[in-house]
Amino acid sequence: MKPAHLLLVIPCYNEEAILHYTYSTLKAYYADIKQQGLITPDSKICFVNDGSRDRTWEIIEELSLKDADIIGVKLSRNFGHQSAILAGLEHHIDHFDCFVTIDADLQDDINAITAMIQRYQEGAMVVYGVRDDRSSDSWFKRSTAEGFYKVMQKMGVPVVFNHADFRLMDRRILQELGHFREVNLFLRGIIPMIGFKSNKVFYKRLERTAGETKYPLSKMLLFAWNGITSFTNFPMRLVLYFGVLNFMLAMAIVTYIVVAYLVGETIPGWTSTILPITFFSGFNMIALSLIGEYIGKIYEEVKARPRYIIEKVVNE
Ligand code: UDP
Ligand code: MG
Repeated sequence: MKPAHLLLVIPCYNEEAILHYTYSTLKAYYADIKQQGLITPDSKICFVNDGSRDRTWEIIEELSLKDADIIGVKLSRNFGHQSAILAGLEHHIDHFDCFVTIDADLQDDINAITAMIQRYQEGAMVVYGVRDDRSSDSWFKRSTAEGFYKVMQKMGVPVVFNHADFRLMDRRILQELGHFREVNLFLRGIIPMIGFKSNKVFYKRLERTAGETKYPLSKMLLFAWNGITSFTNFPMRLVLYFGVLNFMLAMAIVTYIVVAYLVGETIPGWTSTILPITFFSGFNMIALSLIGEYIGKIYEEVKARPRYIIEKVVNE
């Protein structure tokens, strides 16, 4: 098999505690797969600093100056995980044949990259890394994360179950990805939408060896919400169903009032007037806020702001 000309892209946000470990682990692994003839000798590793506030960039710069295999990309501020990945990929689109993205903490087993490259050599354009064993995650992390994929799938977002951003992509996939001009980038949903031949590789998710998660619950919820509203208007449809139900209820109430009037009973008093008003105005609020959410999204997209800005690249 022809060796793959590979670029490994690693987004880094405040990862000073683990970067040296990540570097030496990947370096040893690269030496290994180069020797096996799996990747070309000029395959490289790219660390993208996503506006870290600690010494992450200094470490990356230092590594790239002493090691020709390391490329450092520095974003001008924190743009977020997804944009950091995209910056590393798009900036090198013309220089490599295939790309693997992996988190800086190496919680995703790097040995799975070997299998990814093999699937790639067999013709897959995208290879998804799938966590089939999350026993190292806390019960909470596991159930919220798995719930997230299930809910997404139920709503019609084409995510691969238990696949995060550990994947191999052919250059062609990146070219097509470039045509998705949306600002709210949710790679896990977009990549499956691009199509082409794909495959999966299974691995066991490991524990973070140093540093702490950059995805606390609040950020995870925001990420999930962003993914949902970027891909489906299911929540809006839910409000529509609710509205229809409400309308039917209102009709029943009206019928009751009319009948009560015809029969000559006393007209229902204050409670029955104020209750529906409160109820329906509350409902209107929910509906409006949801509409506002989508208008906000449209606003973002119309502005078409750049998703990231590279400040500098060392050791290109
Ligand atoms: N990350 C990033 N920008 C951010 C937040 C996170 O580049 O704003 C990177 C982080 O350095 C790591 C990856 O995204 O390489 C995933 O983060 P983390 O491991 O903390 O998430 P978890 O595995 O806990 O979900
Ligand atoms: Mg992690």
